[in-house]
Amino acid sequence: MRLILFGSPGVGKGTQAKILSSKLNIPHISTGDILRLAVREQTPLGIKAQEVMASGELVSDDIMIGIIKYTLEQDKCAKGFILDGFPRTHEQAHAFDDMLEKMNIHDVYVVNLTANENEIITRLTNRRACKECKTIFSVSEIKGLSKCPKCGTEDSFYQRSDDTEDVIRHRLDVFKESTQPVLRHYTVKKKVITIDALGTVDEVYDRILKALNNVAPDEISISA
Ligand code: AMP
Repeated sequence: MRLILFGSPGVGKGTQAKILSSKLNIPHISTGDILRLAVREQTPLGIKAQEVMASGELVSDDIMIGIIKYTLEQDKCAKGFILDGFPRTHEQAHAFDDMLEKMNIHDVYVVNLTANENEIITRLTNRRACKECKTIFSVSEIKGLSKCPKCGTEDSFYQRSDDTEDVIRHRLDVFKESTQPVLRHYTVKKKVITIDALGTVDEVYDRILKALNNVAPDEISISA
């Protein structure tokens, strides 16, 4: 199964992609995570991307297309993948189409997660992550805890530097202007499944699984 998880920052793409990846046993490719790792390791890519990411702007299409091309050529992506954070511009979407065409892949579904803007801003300002296992929590879930409930690491919670209110607002503007229009590209091809992303993580996951089971029952077992 090949999926694009689409939606605004903070809508829950990363959380759902991680669950789908482990239940369906297909790799989760998050371009944000790839870039953040490069920034942490201060690779040439990381040094280039650092400031752009901190401001909430988009890293250049050339760089992002190169990253995805390299990643999709890896063996681990041969049977499927879940893209989270790509494509984010028309140029990326067109380059991605070309890659898929060359790889003779035609079965990509777009899972479009939606939520209202107030909910998104609340989620993002309250978002924390474990730096060890990368699980995402809301502040209320980890209140008073010193260890990550998922992996047990001590003092591992952090807030992303681009999750401050002014950067969040800018990222939402960038989403509306550059990324939201990309959905039309896929709607024309009738590959979009729109899912209400309000509710608990489990509720949203159930909605996604049911919707995928309707469009691609051979690739999904509803009990997954
Ligand atoms: P995310 O974790 O998906 O919210 O991404 C964090 C940041 O990484 C974004 O605000 C962008 O600066 C950068 N980024 C991630 N994916 C892309 C992409 N496909 N195109 C351009 N920039 C990206």
